[in-house]
Amino acid sequence: MKTKPMLLITGLAGSLVLTQALVGCGSGGSSASAKPYPLDVCLVSGEKLGGHGAPYVFVHEGQEIKLCCKSCLKDFRAEPAKYLQKLASAAGAGGSTPAQAQ
Ligand SMILES: [Zn+2]
Repeated sequence: MKTKPMLLITGLAGSLVLTQALVGCGSGGSSASAKPYPLDVCLVSGEKLGGHGAPYVFVHEGQEIKLCCKSCLKDFRAEPAKYLQKLASAAGAGGSTPAQAQ
């Protein structure tokens, strides 16, 4: 882990976006009920999203999933439980989770 000011700023901005998304979700009750994808890397390959083209986004059982490219989808489909567990552990280790507000 390198500590660069740019990374800190990016992290803060990400938290703000996430918080706003949660607030919007709580007060609206709109059709967008999927949980937002908490990472900025491909769940299958671990590649940075948007690194080479637009990420592939879909919703799996109420959880938004983002992949670096569509070819990762077949890997996810092969073992969705494995990748969902990976997502849960990655999100938990990723630092602050605004969703856990008491
Ligand atoms: Zn990919």
